[in-house]
Amino acid sequence: MKLLVHICCAPDAVYFLKRLREDYPQASIVGFFYDPNIHPYEEYRLRYIETERTCRELGIELYEGEYDLEGWLSSVRGYEEEPERGRRCAICFDYRLLRSLEFAKKVGATHLTTTLLMSPKKEFNMLKESGQKVCENTGIEFLALDYRKGGGTQEMFRLSRELELYHQDYCGCIYGLFKQKKGEVFWDLVSFGGRPPGSKEEMLFIKEVRLYAETELGLSCREWDFDFLNWRVLQGKLEVKGQVVPSFVRPYSASVRGLLKADPVEKAGNVIYYNKGGLRIFLKERLEDEPLEDFDGICSPAFLVSKEYEEVLTKERVSVSLQTHMEPGRSSVLLMGSLQAKDIYAIPADTLQDSRGLSLEALKELLSSSLEEVLRGERAYLLCGAYSLGRTGIKYFEQRTGRRVKALLCSQTP
Ligand code: SF4
Repeated sequence: MKLLVHICCAPDAVYFLKRLREDYPQASIVGFFYDPNIHPYEEYRLRYIETERTCRELGIELYEGEYDLEGWLSSVRGYEEEPERGRRCAICFDYRLLRSLEFAKKVGATHLTTTLLMSPKKEFNMLKESGQKVCENTGIEFLALDYRKGGGTQEMFRLSRELELYHQDYCGCIYGLFKQKKGEVFWDLVSFGGRPPGSKEEMLFIKEVRLYAETELGLSCREWDFDFLNWRVLQGKLEVKGQVVPSFVRPYSASVRGLLKADPVEKAGNVIYYNKGGLRIFLKERLEDEPLEDFDGICSPAFLVSKEYEEVLTKERVSVSLQTHMEPGRSSVLLMGSLQAKDIYAIPADTLQDSRGLSLEALKELLSSSLEEVLRGERAYLLCGAYSLGRTGIKYFEQRTGRRVKALLCSQTP
């Protein structure tokens, strides 16, 4: 018996694959990740990376299908407004299972099944019908296995937690995203470049590093999620006499209403204060974004500007527009190596407004070149989310574990 398992995500796969192994000990099991419905692409990658990690953990061979989003979108055209479990979902199942069947034929499988059957939110009979329909007269048998019963769902959640898997909070497609998350979809769909704190890009980076550390280097990893006050800049501009002054926005600056015109009042140290809107300008030796070391709670609008503009900024009226956003966000820290290691070095997972941050290649190089020290317990690495916003990941880790993070490994352009 050769069994091709269509895999939709790691949480649905982890218990399902384990049960298949127990129930079909003689079968050759092959995984096929096929999710062209997932939107946006970063979410797709996150689900794939976690599936790869799960399959490696379980020793299951895994193939990745094509991300043919346009084909999938065309197939559900006209059914965008359907509720979940409606006609669009039936087409979505047919689409994914039909292409999984084609792959099953290619690898010579005798049986086909899908981890979608494990999902608590999916209609079991709809999936069963879809699977049986696509396999009809093909010589490949569809296995409609209900592993949710008898505590299977609880076991699935337990194993997901144990493996610290990424758990999505919507089914996957853009239509489901709008329906399931209502007005809160903006941050799922917008990308600002780099890996902003609390973003999908930051999470994807952490998961990619974990996959590499665990499966390529054999390092033990642990991950902790935490909630924090997230801050993002949507747009900001600083002008003097109609000329744009190159600047970055200081983290936790509040928005400015409309266009603010303000005159300098005084300069204290390297900070120029203005007469309106609480505006401040921080003069820097040179223009580059920098992580906020500690959040002092002050959220008056503030810009970072190179010292070369000091004279004009202390004399002239400035015009400022600024839109920022603050709300609770979620990030995580990843420990690679032992919690008892002699030294723990922190590495930022997020990038700054100017996109500076450690690249995946540089980090892989760092890990592999110091592997022996990590294995001997002389050092461990802590990949920290939300570092640029008050070193939040580090603080969470230190509070949670009582360990001090010894030093910080700095940034490069990704
Ligand atoms: S809600 Fe889920 S199952 Fe339904 S169409 Fe979207 S991705 Fe497919």
